[in-house]
Amino acid sequence: MNYEQFTHWDKRIFLVDMTKELDHNFSELMKRGLAKYLQGPSSKGKKIWIIVNKKGFSNGVICYDCGHIPQCKRCSVPISFHKTPAGTLMGMCHICKMQYLYPEICEECGTSKIAPYGMGTQQVAEWIEQEYHVKPLIIESETVNSPGKVKRMLEQIQGNDSHILIWTALLAQPIRDYTFDLLIFLNADLWLNIPDYNVNERNFQLLYEAFTKHSCNNFVVQSMKVDQFSLRFACKLDKEGFYEQEYAFRKQFLYPPFGELCVILYKDEIESKMFKKVDSLYQELLYLQQKYDMQEMEIYATPPMIYKMFGKYRYNIILKGKEVRNFMDIVYTKLNFYKKGFKIDRMAESIV
Ligand SMILES: [Zn+2]
Ligand SMILES: [Zn+2]
Repeated sequence: MNYEQFTHWDKRIFLVDMTKELDHNFSELMKRGLAKYLQGPSSKGKKIWIIVNKKGFSNGVICYDCGHIPQCKRCSVPISFHKTPAGTLMGMCHICKMQYLYPEICEECGTSKIAPYGMGTQQVAEWIEQEYHVKPLIIESETVNSPGKVKRMLEQIQGNDSHILIWTALLAQPIRDYTFDLLIFLNADLWLNIPDYNVNERNFQLLYEAFTKHSCNNFVVQSMKVDQFSLRFACKLDKEGFYEQEYAFRKQFLYPPFGELCVILYKDEIESKMFKKVDSLYQELLYLQQKYDMQEMEIYATPPMIYKMFGKYRYNIILKGKEVRNFMDIVYTKLNFYKKGFKIDRMAESIV
């Protein structure tokens, strides 16, 4: 069997290298765990919790002929798909909520080799029902963003006799008087694909809290990047080791807490106008940097992770380094930002 085991008192964490599995969605170990806790002689009253980071049926659809992935017309994100009660797949943009029909043919090459990719909660639930003949309860994080909703959701879980819960996120606090027998991360590389300096910390914290806060003794962690340090330190429950390596990286590249970060965002419906505005501010900032001799600071312009949202193009200017706040005090007195339509985050904690 393909896994590495980490044992901490009565807790066992199994890290599975998904690049070595024949089935890239569900590992042999996960299947064995599901069979044991859903069907075996000791399955009575057992509870399983699966973390799936996508809502709906699939992340999107892809053309297997030309590789095209249909995107929302107003936002630069793939259209995700969910299954309606009638069983048809409907598309929706998770940002602006615009709806789309399932494409019969590829809008780029005209072939019909279109299929869903990336498993969402509905697809995982469907697979479990088919394989194990039990109906999972799906809980999507969007519905638990206030104390009242958390309470109702807990009632829903406690009043449901399903053996298996599928979540899109972890709850920040453990559920009182509620024990899980197996917790599965379907794809533990949750945050790692986001191009931000603090993704490793977020990934580490998410896993570390799952392992330490919740009442559960068996964890299966499926990952395509088992050598990634945030993942390994989390499995070892080694907070000190993680921060030593994380802070060495941030110190070298002057990311917070060793440097300061300011993110300036500009949005416009006309792409060329956005470029013009961003470039002229960028030049002004470079001029001021030179004039006040603040070279221990890096200034660069870059598109954010989502380039277009609600029909508006977006671009960032990022200032990073030791003197960013002092520099911004100067900039405020010299340039009138608000008139120019820039949104400024002077204490930014993220660069995307
Ligand atoms: Zn195509
Ligand atoms: Zn959209």
